[in-house]
Amino acid sequence: MRKINQGIHQFQTNYFTTHREMFEQLALGQHPRILFITCCDSRIDPNLITQTQPGELFIVRNIGNIIPPYGATNGGEGAAIEYAIQSLDIKDIVVCGHSHCGAMKGLLQPSGLNEELPLVHDWLKYAEGTRRLLRYNYKGVEGEDLLNAAIEENVITQLDNLRTYPIVHARLYSGQLNLHAWVYKIETGGIFVYSADRCNIQAKHEDGMAVVEAVPLFVNQVAKE
Ligand SMILES: [Zn+2]
Repeated sequence: MRKINQGIHQFQTNYFTTHREMFEQLALGQHPRILFITCCDSRIDPNLITQTQPGELFIVRNIGNIIPPYGATNGGEGAAIEYAIQSLDIKDIVVCGHSHCGAMKGLLQPSGLNEELPLVHDWLKYAEGTRRLLRYNYKGVEGEDLLNAAIEENVITQLDNLRTYPIVHARLYSGQLNLHAWVYKIETGGIFVYSADRCNIQAKHEDGMAVVEAVPLFVNQVAKE
């Protein structure tokens, strides 16, 4: 706690005083343009990796950047999604997974979680679509490759869950909402963006077995603008 107490002092005496006008503006209301959904993992800092200021990102964080499907629970995720779109008129939602995600490691070995982390175990049921997809389509993929596939596929699964929300469904239909799937690589700072039209999973069927080709689902986002 000592470190963060010193941090508060530094923030108030340095950063706040040099950005006072911005904070006074923020006190009048928030107008974020992006709903940013990511993992609780302490190694991700949404404002740092996107170089945005307070007030620019409306952020939802939880274990595994998961969005329970509409009606599955009355949790905070649905309320945040509804508020972001209806009240803040946000038109872009980013779901951002990340490399070395502990939640995805747990998803790949759920039996070990039941005893020690029953709440995490239950929460990961909202990513069951990801686990099933991997089991069925990624036979023969193991270790780090399987974890990376889980991280990427889970982001795409969670976009599917997002689409189950009536407000998302309605705004997508009218072209007033865009969904974005990202994976952040902790070790390189890279942001990989899902591009369904440029890259896609290629499963060849040989002797009744699906053989997955190593085609990246996500492409490196080269910084522009
Ligand atoms: Zn994570």
